[in-house]
Order: sequence, then structure tokens, then C-alpha cells
Amino acid sequence: MLKQILEELKPTQTQLVAVSKTKPNEAILNLYDQGQRAFGENYVQELVEKQATLPNDILWHFIGHLQSNKVKYIAPFVTMIHSVDSFKLLQEINKQAAKHNRVIKVLLQFHIAEEESKFGFDTEGVQQVVQELAQAHLNHVEICGVMGMATFTDDKTQVRREFQHLKSIFDNLKYNYFAQNPSFTQISMGMSDDYKMAIEEGSTMVRIGSLLFGKRY
Ligand SMILES: *Cc1c(COP(=O)(O)O)cnc(C)c1O
Repeated sequence: MLKQILEELKPTQTQLVAVSKTKPNEAILNLYDQGQRAFGENYVQELVEKQATLPNDILWHFIGHLQSNKVKYIAPFVTMIHSVDSFKLLQEINKQAAKHNRVIKVLLQFHIAEEESKFGFDTEGVQQVVQELAQAHLNHVEICGVMGMATFTDDKTQVRREFQHLKSIFDNLKYNYFAQNPSFTQISMGMSDDYKMAIEEGSTMVRIGSLLFGKRY
């Protein structure tokens, strides 16, 4: 499955984050041995335990909701945090990264789902953050783009519309605020059921779990 997915991502050079939440180390090592290095986790404690025992050259992506008081546990090693949804969280990531002399890549998470329950900025919230950012000098975070999750639904046109929305948010931010920032390049969208559509709509990074590892129970 890994090979097939990588073939599909090749033409657009879309990156793959293998989402290994709830899956055992052996399953991760199986993909690792096939060359996969980027893995995504949702829970701080689970990530910390896995990181301590798995190979050091794994690039860990944190993709779940993150509370400020837990940033310190993952700051020593995490590569990218996809789920930044407040300025306060961004400041905390910067502070903890500084302690370890690191720069942590982050994505701004947007609420694109038309359903209610998902975390993330709306377009107004982010304007404020971007203005705060311009004044604060956060040297230990690198803002690399945006992330979003579509509604969990069989309605493909709705999912496509939500992906298009995230792409337009990205384009807007890039044009208005990050034009001088060469790091602002990533659109993290697309999961097992909808990654092909996400790529059609401009995804640069897909987060695939169950298709690689089997269903979660
Ligand atoms: C679990 C999860 C995924 C992967 O979902 P699959 O449907 O198993 O591919 C991707 N992104 C986030 C934020 C997740 O929580």
C-alpha cells in the first residue's frame, strides 16, 4: 500500500505523513523499513512513548489538538505541529523550542468543516494572529502553511468545497502576509478517504492512517 500511495503522490510531489496513532511500534517499523520517515500522532503521551523507543531519524508530526501545557513534552524532538489554533499556543511552542535551541515548524489550523465540532481558526481569528505575529519576534517557530480537516461525510461535493476553501485561505495569507516568507508553502489536507481529491485541490501534504495501517478500533 505504501508504494502505491507514494506512486500516486509523485506527480504532484505531495508529501506523505503516515498517521500511526493507536498503532504499535512494529507497525511503524514496518513502514520505516520501507523508507517512510514522516509519521503523525495525535496524543502527546503516546507520541512521547513512541519517540523514546523508535529510531531517531523519524520525523514526528503532531496533528492532534494540543494544549499549551503539554508543548514542553514534545518540544525536544517534534518536527512539525499541524494544529496551531491560537497565538498563545504559538508563543508557547516558541518558548519551549528556544529552551532546546530548536526551530519547530508549524501550520495554522483552520476550521473548514461546515460541521461544528472541529478545532481551528476562522478567517477573522487568523487576521489577528497574523498581526500579532508581525510584532512578536518568534524566532523558534517556522510558519510553514495551513492545515484543515474536512467534514466527516459521504458528500463528496461538500468535502471538495471545504478543500477549496482551505486552498483559498492559503492563497490569501500567502499573498497578503507571507509573500516574503519562503517557508510558507504547505497545505496539509487529505486523509485516507479523500486524499486524491485533496491533491486535486492543491494539497501539498496528506495525512494517511487507516489506509496504511488498517482500521483503528
Ligand atoms: C486520524 C487522523 C488522520 C488520519 O485519518 P485516516 O482516515 O485514518 O487516514 C489525519 N489527520 C488527523 C488530524 C487525524 O486525527
